[in-house]
Amino acid sequence: MEKYNPLTPEVIAELKRIVGEKHVITDPDGLDTYKTDQETDPHLFHTPEAVVAPDSTAQVAAIMKLANQYGFAVTPRSGGTSVSDGAIAVYGGVVMLMERMNKIEKIDPDGMYMVVQAGVRTLDVQQAARKEGMFYAGDPCSADSCLIGGNLATNAGGDKAVRYGTTRNQVHAIEVVLPTGEIANLGARTKKNTTGYCLDQLVLGSEGTLGIITRATLKLLPIAPYKSDVLLIFTDPRKATSIVPVLLKAGLNPTSVEFMDNGFVRASSDYSKIRLNHYEDGAYVILTLETYDEDEMDRKLVQVDELARQNGAVEVSMADDRVWTIRKNCLEGTRILSRVSTSDDFVVPLDQIADTIMDLSTMAQAYPFRIFTLAHAGDGNLHFNILKGDLSDEEWENALNSFHAKAYAYVYGHGGLLSGEHGIGAKKIHQLKTLTDPGQMLMMTTIKKALDPLDVLNPGKVIEKY
Ligand SMILES: Cc1cc2nc3c(=O)[nH]c(=O)nc-3n(C[C@H](O)[C@H](O)[C@H](O)COP(=O)(O)OP(=O)(O)OC[C@H]3O[C@@H](n4cnc5c(N)ncnc54)[C@H](O)[C@@H]3O)c2cc1C
Repeated sequence: MEKYNPLTPEVIAELKRIVGEKHVITDPDGLDTYKTDQETDPHLFHTPEAVVAPDSTAQVAAIMKLANQYGFAVTPRSGGTSVSDGAIAVYGGVVMLMERMNKIEKIDPDGMYMVVQAGVRTLDVQQAARKEGMFYAGDPCSADSCLIGGNLATNAGGDKAVRYGTTRNQVHAIEVVLPTGEIANLGARTKKNTTGYCLDQLVLGSEGTLGIITRATLKLLPIAPYKSDVLLIFTDPRKATSIVPVLLKAGLNPTSVEFMDNGFVRASSDYSKIRLNHYEDGAYVILTLETYDEDEMDRKLVQVDELARQNGAVEVSMADDRVWTIRKNCLEGTRILSRVSTSDDFVVPLDQIADTIMDLSTMAQAYPFRIFTLAHAGDGNLHFNILKGDLSDEEWENALNSFHAKAYAYVYGHGGLLSGEHGIGAKKIHQLKTLTDPGQMLMMTTIKKALDPLDVLNPGKVIEKY
């Protein structure tokens, strides 16, 4: 489709008929709230023509049928915590809010699963599972503000992916509204499945381009009774990064291995109003261990202490929640230092993570922006938070493009990829096309065009508009 049709009064009336008048926003002030997600650069904002909030799968399906009939774009939005411009309506039309679909429909501790609508907040999923003595392992740092449907759509990672995998590993089955408005139930609660194509996993992580996820059957696990958080502090950042493969190879099966450079430690400690040791000069590695046996935990803690000190840690101590507050506030802690900033999400093979952190940090020093380095190091996933500060638009764009060109070449040269967990969204769509194997791009484009012939669902994300 060359161009999307503007939303006419007739379409708005239809949308109101589907979801109810008070669940359709068309006034400029109301729409303004939805012009961005976590994007901070005003050049990348887009205000939608309407915002609609369905409360059932049938309503979502009816809206998609309408979009195909009248030729307007639909952008699904859950918590709006995307850092890749995923929830921005880059071609206008409708933003579809998933937040009213917020029922936890079933928790079955014996069957070890729960069924939720897509608009349940991730923290509420975690807490509901805990209340039944079970554990939901998906845990992005934004859990208090993102929704489970957003996590499923982006295949969110987070702090526990080292041990439990990303969101796609926590799912048995999903209900999806296809771009053309049909409803599909994908996956099963079985342990194994070679019954046709693995379509649930295709939709998971597709960033709302292949379907709108409306319901999910999530896996639950037993809660490990012994859990310890350990803070390893290094004054030499290279030693801090080098400890990561050592910890992973030691057979500790950690739940989390997180790295923060000293810039992040300071900025986030200031923001959180918490001071831990070596605030001035320390890089932090946070290690979480979980076991079902007390002696095993004791043995592992002794092993961690020895390994860390042998590899240059200046301090090894048991940590409390304060260290996780600092970790979880990293983005906010640096963002308040600059009105405009951007966040990178490189992922590399695990044996490359230590060198990659150090080499890219060194490379970044040649540029005029400020850069902070954070890593889900145990996953090989590296986040740079880059601040525009006082740079002019032109200086910012030139510096960022130059840094990214070099960083992408480095990352792909070391077997890595553009995104480990934040997704492509609208932000990295051109880089994806340039850097991805042509055969893979052909398959992705063919699938998208087959499922969404008019390109009405989340256009301009992952695959370029056609
Ligand atoms: C402070 C902070 C910390 C973060 N930490 C992490 C982290 O540790 N790990 C991580 O992976 N990410 C992290 N993120 C990024 C973000 O939180 C995740 O990508 C999250 O999964 C997005 O969820 P959301 O509900 O906010 O979705 P949104 O931002 O609303 O949407 C994300 C994408 O999914 C699509 N979408 C939303 N709902 C649906 C649906 N029901 N069906 C189909 N498509 C849909 C949207 O169109 C968009 O493309 C962080 C972000 C912030 C601001």
